[in-house]
Amino acid sequence: MQKPDLVKETHPVDYDAIIVGAGPAGLSAGTYLAQARYRVLLLDKESFGGQIMNVEWIEDSPGLAAPVSGAVLASGMVNAAEQCGVHMELGEVVEIESYSGCKSVRCADGRAYTSSLVILAGGLRARKLGVPGQDRFDGKGMIHCTLCDAGLYAGQEVAVCGGGNAGIIEALYFANHASKVHVIEAQPGLTASAALQARAYANPRLEFRCGATVVEIVGDEFVTGIQVQNAATGRKELLNVSGVLARVGFDPASGYLEGLLSLDDRGGIVVNHHAETDVSGIMAAGDIRSESPRKVAAAVRDGETAAMSAQRFLQSLKQEV
Ligand SMILES: Cc1cc2nc3c(=O)[nH]c(=O)nc-3n(C[C@H](O)[C@H](O)[C@H](O)COP(=O)(O)OP(=O)(O)OC[C@H]3O[C@@H](n4cnc5c(N)ncnc54)[C@H](O)[C@@H]3O)c2cc1C
Repeated sequence: MQKPDLVKETHPVDYDAIIVGAGPAGLSAGTYLAQARYRVLLLDKESFGGQIMNVEWIEDSPGLAAPVSGAVLASGMVNAAEQCGVHMELGEVVEIESYSGCKSVRCADGRAYTSSLVILAGGLRARKLGVPGQDRFDGKGMIHCTLCDAGLYAGQEVAVCGGGNAGIIEALYFANHASKVHVIEAQPGLTASAALQARAYANPRLEFRCGATVVEIVGDEFVTGIQVQNAATGRKELLNVSGVLARVGFDPASGYLEGLLSLDDRGGIVVNHHAETDVSGIMAAGDIRSESPRKVAAAVRDGETAAMSAQRFLQSLKQEV
């Protein structure tokens, strides 16, 4: 099948579409457009596969008779995109400029590309605790990726801040390696689903402090503990841990988009039912969009919706000739 050369000739851009974020949303959008023979660049700042690469088991996605490994699911999506001809590069996008008929995408290392359109699929970023010590011990006991790092804490005590779904899923994974996992939750009780709470309370390696918050990360060169304060009594307690994971919420990874397009009050990208933003030629899909259900199936569907709009947009450029 021929590439849509007319689009290339009339708009001398590097790619027809640039997609920011190689998670389920970006991969499904890229696969769809590459299957339609458009030239697609997929950029990701970390690795290809997105958040599910770091999730041990995907448990509640339609069509799954049993939990499937997040890494296995992600690899399947990455392979499908590659086989369809999606060009993938590592690079953190830090700026997008929108001109009529052309978008310019700039990466942190200075690389820049042009395209006819952009699909934003950057997902979420873990919220910081915002307490003394968090930045100082980044990479020195402050944990970002449970699946990658849990083995480093074998036989040691760690803390997971946040008793919601993500916190409990990751605390349970840590319990396979660590001697004890302290779960700290600001609310009076865990906020994870009932099924996850049942698994958490049944695990002898998990210990819970609800109605309490972490007020400081302490240590020398590496983390040696956390100060936890009980909300009701105000009493502080030092827990000796060598690793800390913050799972106190996620925010859309949209900081670099402020001023370019409309964001909601939580930073989610505002889109219509066609995944279009209020900037012509920029679509958004997956967890990064406003009101996303934050599930794999929803991200994949969003990616396809964005790709359908992208295809219509590219066809309209052709007709302008
Ligand atoms: C612990 C945990 C367990 C979960 N379990 C389930 C489950 O069982 N079932 C389920 O359906 N869902 C689950 N989810 C949710 C699921 O992971 C997400 O809904 C899904 O990954 C969203 O896909 P996405 O493509 O929108 O974003 P992501 O998967 O987050 O991918 C976004 C990608 O964009 C990249 N990126 C971000 N900003 C930039 C930038 N500026 N430049 C370049 N790249 C960038 C990131 O590196 C990332 O790879 C879970 C999530 C967590 C945290």
